[in-house]
Amino acid sequence: MRRFSVCSPSSYRLNRPISTMATGSGSLVWFRKGLRIHDNPALEYASKGSQFLYPVFVIDPHYMESDPSAFSPGSSRAGVNRIRFLLESLKDLDSSLKKLGSRLLVLKGEPGEVLVRCLQEWKVKRLCFEYDTDPYYQALDVRVKDYASSTGVEVFSPVSHTLFNPSDIIEKNGGKTPLSYQSFLKIAGEPSCAKSELVMSYSSLPPIGAVGSLGISEVPILEELGYTDDEQAEWTPFRGGESEALKRLTKSVSDKAWVANFEKPKGDPSAFLKPATTVLSPYLKFGCLSSRYFYQCLQNLYKDVKKHTSPPVSLLGQLLWREFFYTTAFGTPNFDKMKGNPICKQIPWNEDHAMLAAWRDGKTGYPWIDAIMIQLLKWGWMHHLARHCVACFLTRGDLFIHWEQGRDVFERLLIDSDWAINNGNWMWLSCSSFFYQYNRIYSPISFGKKYDPDGKYIRHFLPVLKDMPKQYIYEPWTAPLSVQTKANCIVGKDYPKPMVLHDSASKECKRKMGETYALNKKMGGKVDDEDLRGLRRKLQEDGHEESTKIRNQRRKLN
Ligand code: FAD
Repeated sequence: MRRFSVCSPSSYRLNRPISTMATGSGSLVWFRKGLRIHDNPALEYASKGSQFLYPVFVIDPHYMESDPSAFSPGSSRAGVNRIRFLLESLKDLDSSLKKLGSRLLVLKGEPGEVLVRCLQEWKVKRLCFEYDTDPYYQALDVRVKDYASSTGVEVFSPVSHTLFNPSDIIEKNGGKTPLSYQSFLKIAGEPSCAKSELVMSYSSLPPIGAVGSLGISEVPILEELGYTDDEQAEWTPFRGGESEALKRLTKSVSDKAWVANFEKPKGDPSAFLKPATTVLSPYLKFGCLSSRYFYQCLQNLYKDVKKHTSPPVSLLGQLLWREFFYTTAFGTPNFDKMKGNPICKQIPWNEDHAMLAAWRDGKTGYPWIDAIMIQLLKWGWMHHLARHCVACFLTRGDLFIHWEQGRDVFERLLIDSDWAINNGNWMWLSCSSFFYQYNRIYSPISFGKKYDPDGKYIRHFLPVLKDMPKQYIYEPWTAPLSVQTKANCIVGKDYPKPMVLHDSASKECKRKMGETYALNKKMGGKVDDEDLRGLRRKLQEDGHEESTKIRNQRRKLN
């Protein structure tokens, strides 16, 4: 076992034959996230003193198998880009395990049931898996732990997905969940992992014991899960796996000046050939990269430079945003809902499936918004500010549609889809929690133009607009018909007309948010369904005159 503290990923060694002998004292390491060898305390503990080690991943068909009725290629829960990313990560993990004389045992079925069968069949004495705060795993892990303790199996479930254990932070704060980043930083202090030596590699792992009658397979390829070759016209350029994560991290931290000067929200959201941020999020999501190792690398780099930026804007500050949302999510009931969520403002959002679908499919008629949504569909990743723009547009900026519906689209399509971070940021962007300046709205026209006046980003993701002259690229509906004809793009035929007029739609949204905030204040945050229905009626009546005006303007546009 090699302990390693900072930033020089070492090579994994050894080829040892896999044992097929009968099981003796066996440990099972259950991979869910944490798809890595480096800094993996569950793997470390499981391998210590064990005669046999069973490294297991369970494919849950519900999560991974193709669902042709879904709105885009993928399963009922995840877009195909994320499923591919996960399979690549598993393949990489399997190949690293093989170099250490082990392999990944892939099983299929409802994970709780499969795990219990493994424990029974293999007479495992020790079960190790990374602690997970997501509600799905919290419920699953109780079941598995209950079974294990009733049969005398030792369970080891360390916190290693995050820098801090969210419940420690809440306890340190007298049982209250910190709700601002600054208060979080003050309470959290330095994580204990900052100075600990992390195990980065092994010279070998214990062999696998007999696997009996359980159906073990290799890591499947996409086709084996029901996907076809032509599932996506364009795939995400980001490949999954620990090897790729460590390469990406090494590349990011090798540019010391870039890291030292990193300052978010500065950075170009339209940069797609060379993104303005690290794109480490999908690797952190699946745990191909340890956040604790990332943290140590940054700390070390900061020691080497004269000056560097600080949280909240620094790169280390970004990692701490992740911790902040993990903590608030863990400590808040119904964090993924508006109803029953004590930190979420109750807002009478509109129900409009056609508008939601137009936004989701990149057909709003605003090229900046549509290009971002197409990047999401094709790549499963967009820059943070791009996410801001489309989330604001869907909710409080233009369409006044529920943040939960936008959240669902992101949750399905992002390759970095993360329960705590996604819900937290959607509440933030919709001014439902954390951030309340609802008068500050991103323009779907001028915001992107600041960064990319030529519209290179739009031309890439919306090729239908590739020949539109630069002065019309953000507002193609204003181009004279002769220009549209020359550009082979007639607005209303080849590319949609804008679905709302931003100026009036955003004004209307501000009015609604103003009334909603007033109601939330009056009711001390205790707004119930009846109050919301009343407010919705009032907003409709007051807005009737306004919407007639907007409809007339739209008619003129058509
Ligand atoms: P970098 O800027 O290089 O930051 C490094 C790491 O810090 C990221 O990989 C991420 O783990 C963390 N980080 C950065 N920004 C944030 C943030 N605002 N909140 C929490 N952690 C952060 N991020 C996800 O990982 N998963 C999601 O599902 C997700 N959904 C989002 C939804 C909306 C509406 C918005 C506005 C943001 C969302 N984010 C999400 C946060 C953020 O946009 C991404 O983490 C970031 O863009 C990832 O790119 P990066 O790795 O290059 O980030």
